[in-house]
Amino acid sequence: MKPTFHQDDMQTSVAAAFTLAGVGVHSGRYTKMTVRPALADTGILFHRTDVAGEEGHILAHASNAIETQLCTRIENRFGVGINMIEHVMAAFHGLGVDNAIVEIDSSEVPILDGSSLQVVERILQVGISRLHAERRYIEVLAPVSAQLENGAWAQLSPADQLTIDIDIDFVDPGIGQQRCQFDMTQDDFVTELSSARTFCMLKDVEKMRNAGLAKGGSMDNALVYDNGRILNEGGLRMTNECVRHKALDCMGDLYLLGMPVKAKLSSHMPGHRLSTILVRALLEAPDCFRIVGGDEGLQVASAASMPALAVAQSA
Ligand SMILES: [Zn+2]
Repeated sequence: MKPTFHQDDMQTSVAAAFTLAGVGVHSGRYTKMTVRPALADTGILFHRTDVAGEEGHILAHASNAIETQLCTRIENRFGVGINMIEHVMAAFHGLGVDNAIVEIDSSEVPILDGSSLQVVERILQVGISRLHAERRYIEVLAPVSAQLENGAWAQLSPADQLTIDIDIDFVDPGIGQQRCQFDMTQDDFVTELSSARTFCMLKDVEKMRNAGLAKGGSMDNALVYDNGRILNEGGLRMTNECVRHKALDCMGDLYLLGMPVKAKLSSHMPGHRLSTILVRALLEAPDCFRIVGGDEGLQVASAASMPALAVAQSA
C-alpha cells in the first residue's frame, strides 16, 4: 500500500483505535497495547490500564525519560513507568502522528517483530486524521552535543528538515562498520527504516538472561549474531539492517522532545542512554532552539522542571 500523508502543517492523530498484542522482550509478559485517537496538543500519552487513575498516565517526554542502556523508559512523578517505548514512538514520529493515547496493561511495550513494522502497518490501515491545530516544531539554532565514556557521541545541528547521519562499529564481523544517511521523509521512514529489526550478539543473550532481562527475546523479535553469522532463518530484511534499526531507535528517542525537530542528527554508536542525554541537553539550552508554528508563546519543560537524572541498571 502506498502511504498518503498530510503535507500541510496541521497536527494529526490516528483516525481510529487499533490493538496489537505480544510478549515484552525483557519481562517475557504477554501484553496488550491499544492506540487511540487523541485531541490536538495531547502529545503521545501512555496510559497503564493496570494502574488506577492519574497515576497510570505517563507523557512521552524527555522530562519523564530515565537513562537506560537497553531500552527507553519513561516514568511519571508517582514512579509509574513504561519500558521499551522507542519503536512505537519511532512509528508516530516517522508517520507524522502528533497525538495519540497508548493504553497498555503492563510495564513494557510488546516487542512484536523487533521493528516498527506492525505499528506502522496498523496506523496506515486505520489512517491518519488531521486536527484543527497547527503543528509545532523544535528548530535547532546552534549545535548541541553529548558523549559517553566509551567514545559514543551524538550532535544536533541546524538543518531545514530532520536529517540523520549515523554510524556504528561492532566487533562482530557480521555487523562491523555500517553507516546510514537520510533526509527523513515519511516515505523514506516507511520503506527504508520501519521494518529494520533490533539485534544482539548470542554471547550477550546469556548475560541478559542472568540479569533477568530478555526473557521474551527470540529470533522472532531480534536478529541474533554469532561471530559473523546471522542465526535467523531468512537472514537480513535489507542491507545494513543494524544501522537502520539504530536510526529507527533515534527517531523514537528524538520524539521525546514532544514534537518533531528540524535538525541534523549526527551520531557515532547511537544508543538510548546517549539519545536521552542529547535530548535533555537540547532542552536545557534555550539559546540553541526555538519553537516554530502553533502558539508561538508555548514553553517547553525547562531544565529546572526536569527530575534529577536517574541511571537505571543495565546488563
Ligand atoms: Zn530498538
